[in-house]
Amino acid sequence: MYDLTSMPDTLLSNANPKTRKNMKLGFYTEIMHLAPATLSGSNVCTFATEGCKAVCLNTAGHGGIGLDADGLNVQQAARIRRTRFYRDHRDAFLAMLVRDLRAVERRAARHRRKPAVRLNGTSDIPWERQPLTIDGEAYPNVMRAFPDIKFYDYTKVPIPSRGERDGGTLPRNYSLTFSLSESNMDDALKALELGVNVAVVFRGPRLPRRYLGCWVIDGDRHDLRFRDRQVRVVGLRAKGDAVHDHTSGFVHD
Ligand code: SF4
Repeated sequence: MYDLTSMPDTLLSNANPKTRKNMKLGFYTEIMHLAPATLSGSNVCTFATEGCKAVCLNTAGHGGIGLDADGLNVQQAARIRRTRFYRDHRDAFLAMLVRDLRAVERRAARHRRKPAVRLNGTSDIPWERQPLTIDGEAYPNVMRAFPDIKFYDYTKVPIPSRGERDGGTLPRNYSLTFSLSESNMDDALKALELGVNVAVVFRGPRLPRRYLGCWVIDGDRHDLRFRDRQVRVVGLRAKGDAVHDHTSGFVHD
């Protein structure tokens, strides 16, 4: 039996192969993994589709090893605890996030790298709309509170509703890449029109040169999406459950 109710020890981690690739490019990266979609009992992926839920990176790597009959292992239980902590104890969650972000800045300095953070490793929360208070000072979001950290995420939330064109709510140090699923092509084309890159999961080892009228860049070389040239399709090779997905339409041929 796994503990699904107690407070998590930490929110961020750098146990991801892509964070090691980022190190070589000068960035120390940590990622937050929550329980995606409604796995924790509350929805943290408003625009999730059946296809993306079926092949979500939640079960890639350690997240998918040794799952019990309830789909749980140590990582999955920790993700559920974090997500419930976010839902039920928001102020304490934000205080822990601030503690962890300060630790990221310290570790990055120790490694002589710049700090980078992905808050939506396995979720799709508009963090730019989450205000917080630190030592009595109010901030509109963690990006403003930590201007030296590069924040970046993939999102399926239509870009005009999250981007700078919607009232200037997206902070300068927060980069978003739109994520194509099996049913949001119109939103993906709109994102490209607005100058926002679109990530596409492709089957097999080879990426096409062009897709949706744009050059395709290899998104598996590193995870630092804020360094990508625009306007591009970011090609990602299917991983985890996506390798075996031939029906949902999420993985593109
Ligand atoms: S939106 Fe992203 S994190 Fe959420 S279920 Fe889909 S693929 Fe997973």
